Amino acid sequence: PARVVVVGAGMAGVQTAVALREQGFAGSVTLIGAEPHQPYDRPPLSKAILLGTAEGSAFDVDFEALAIEIRLGCEALGVRPGDHVLETSAGAVPYDVLVLATGAGPVRLPGTEGIPGVHLLRTLDDAARLRPVLARQHEVVVVGAGWIGAEFATAAREAGCAVTVVEAADRPLAGALPAEVAAPMSDWYAEAGAVLRTHARVARVEPGAIVLDDGTRVPAGAVVVGIGARPATAWLTGSGIGLGAHGEVLADAGLRTSAPDVYAVGDCASFPSGRYGERLLVHHWDNALQGPRTVAANIVGAATGEAPEVYDPVPYFWSEQFGRFIQYAGHHPAADTTLWRGDPSGPAWTVCWLHEDRLVALLAVGRPRDLAQGRRLIAAGTRMDPRLLTDPARPLKAA
Ligand code: FAD
Repeated sequence: PARVVVVGAGMAGVQTAVALREQGFAGSVTLIGAEPHQPYDRPPLSKAILLGTAEGSAFDVDFEALAIEIRLGCEALGVRPGDHVLETSAGAVPYDVLVLATGAGPVRLPGTEGIPGVHLLRTLDDAARLRPVLARQHEVVVVGAGWIGAEFATAAREAGCAVTVVEAADRPLAGALPAEVAAPMSDWYAEAGAVLRTHARVARVEPGAIVLDDGTRVPAGAVVVGIGARPATAWLTGSGIGLGAHGEVLADAGLRTSAPDVYAVGDCASFPSGRYGERLLVHHWDNALQGPRTVAANIVGAATGEAPEVYDPVPYFWSEQFGRFIQYAGHHPAADTTLWRGDPSGPAWTVCWLHEDRLVALLAVGRPRDLAQGRRLIAAGTRMDPRLLTDPARPLKAA
């Protein structure tokens, strides 16, 4: 192909453009992004950037040297796959190959649109709006005890804010982790001086407070909503490109969409995992790093008639919350056995999930070596000895 157009200038889009060059693609590469800023990395937004210990997180990529044309402040509005044309706020853009990398957008709390003092945390602009909130040491209410809520609460406590986290479920990270694993994490909030209210649903937000459905009023100088994210794909409606139940682009094992010459990668797309036997929609950084290499390989390979490379990663992510470094690898729903290494009330422990004695996932709190060793064992599908596994003093290794 002569012209590759990548929509979305986040991690996945930038990595796709870079990987194309790394893999020797010599045609034109155009990267289109809705945000006005130089492409930047998102994880620091809820960490160093929020606390003001880092000013920015722009990717260290020399686009000019790589002959990658970037068009910022340009929003994709639709695509006509039959004509190989992308419609944007700056006009029509023809392509030979199109890569969808529009990421995800945060879910809003119903009825809070336009209410001052209600924040989301997804973009650099969101983080810039939240920095003065932390500096003023407001009483903040965080809605949602997920990854973003926990990281924001951590930063807000460090900045000296009074923090209340309200969570509709009975525990933090209810959507991500089983109850027995998330339960010990509830204590982290109190330890950090934050109040965690579970079974707490927000009925409405008023100026200066939120009101829960049991009538409780919680004072709030600012409200930060972290209740999840959805693929940013509304603009694809009517394009004929297949979307799934969460609005995600349905990619195949080679990250191709249902439309010819259109690929999808990162937070906006799901793919069939051969490893786990189900379709995965991953909203984590490592997926936006690894997926693009497959996309680039398949764009380059399609031209020479090579069989498409299959994307079948062991998912990985990390989170930094309440002074802890949490890492997760794999996908635990397929597990038949859960084993602990170390005491979950202590500072460092690991949970291992096995399926028929093979490690399928692991969550490590303050045990990066477990993660590194476990990730390899998961990838290799190695058979483990469950009795040896539970001794935290032994390295994680095959039976
Ligand atoms: P995005 O980063 O969302 O980038 C997509 C880009 O496309 C955006 O810039 C968007 O403006 C643009 N776009 C959207 N629609 C259009 C359109 N129609 N036209 C043009 N452009 C468009 N993951 C971890 O593993 N560990 C962490 O600690 C971690 N921390 C995080 C902290 C925060 C605050 C956030 C928000 C996310 C964090 N993540 C973390 C998740 C990680 O950042 C994402 O998985 C990753 O950014 C996904 O990359 P992406 O390129 O697919 O999507």
